[in-house]
Amino acid sequence: MNPNISDGARAFLEAGIRGGGLVTDGPLPGDFAAGWAKHPFTGKLAHYWRVSKTVVPGGIGFHSECSLLTVATHSVPMLGPGNYPHCQRCDTSLLAAMKPRLRKEGA
Ligand SMILES: [Zn+2]
Repeated sequence: MNPNISDGARAFLEAGIRGGGLVTDGPLPGDFAAGWAKHPFTGKLAHYWRVSKTVVPGGIGFHSECSLLTVATHSVPMLGPGNYPHCQRCDTSLLAAMKPRLRKEGA
């Protein structure tokens, strides 16, 4: 869970999870560069996002492992994934990228 949220906010989110709801971990820090996250306007899954090298005026561009593009701004930030299901396409892509490295380390 996002370490930057208050104890009260954490308790609120944990109650939501216990109630069977989908909740995020709240806004991620502005220096978030890569990882699992939920963007408010990109469906019902958490994706694995990386900061794009493309400069986006007024925001930060992100691309996902499954080829989505989005922009995070101060008012629409990336959110910690909470208990949102992870995108299987992102997961498969990350695993495929890791396999050559795992084979090399295992040899
Ligand atoms: Zn994805």
